Amino acid sequence: MTRKLVLASNNAGKLKEFNELLATVDFSAHPQGEFGVPEAEEPFFTFVENALAKARHASRLTGLPALADDSGVCVNALGGAPGVFSARYAGEPKSDARNNEKLVAELAKHEDKSAYYYCVLVFVRHADDPQPVIADGRWNGVMMPEPRGEGGFGYDPYFHVPELGKRAAELSKEEKNRLSHRGQALRALVEKLK
Ligand code: IMP
Repeated sequence: MTRKLVLASNNAGKLKEFNELLATVDFSAHPQGEFGVPEAEEPFFTFVENALAKARHASRLTGLPALADDSGVCVNALGGAPGVFSARYAGEPKSDARNNEKLVAELAKHEDKSAYYYCVLVFVRHADDPQPVIADGRWNGVMMPEPRGEGGFGYDPYFHVPELGKRAAELSKEEKNRLSHRGQALRALVEKLK
C-alpha cells in the first residue's frame, strides 16, 4: 500500500525527482503547500538542524510523515561559506545572479577554488520522532570565475565538474541526478527506508 508523506518544499522539480525514487519504497510525496503548510523558519547554522526543523514543522501541521531537505554550496577557501546561507548569500530578496556575483568576487581573493555541493535529507515518521532517518550527499567541484551552460539553477553555471570537464549547468537532468549531492542523498535515504 502506498503511504503518503509531506515534502517540506513546494519545488515541483524536487517533488518529481523525489517521487521517482520514493515510489520504490511505497511512499508518495505531496508538497506541503497542498496542505496549506507555510514555510518553516530556518534559523540554524547547520544543514541537518534546518532540515530537521522543516520536517518536524510539516509533520506537525499535517499529521503525516515528512521529508525535508537542506542544501547549499560550500567553498573550502571560505571556510564552508556560503553553506546554509547559499540561497541568500547576497541578502534579500533572494537572487542567484547577485549570489554568484558575490561568490566570484570573494573567490578572486583566493587561489583554492575547490567547493562542494552538500545536501541532507531528513525523514520523520511523526513530528516528535526521536529517531529521524538522515542521509546526506556531497558533490565535489571547482568554482569558476565565469559562467557556462543554461541548465540547472543557483550556482550551477559556475560549478565545474572536473571528471566531466563541464559545468553543472551543462549537464542533462539525468546526468545531474546521477552525480549530484541531492541524487546521492536521496538514494542513500531510500536504502535506509528499505
Ligand atoms: P535549498 O536547500 O533548496 O533551499 O537550496 C539552498 C540553496 O543552495 C539554493 O538556493 C542554491 O543557491 C544552492 N543550491 C542547492 N543545490 C543546488 C544545486 O543543485 N545547484 C545550484 N545551487 C544549489
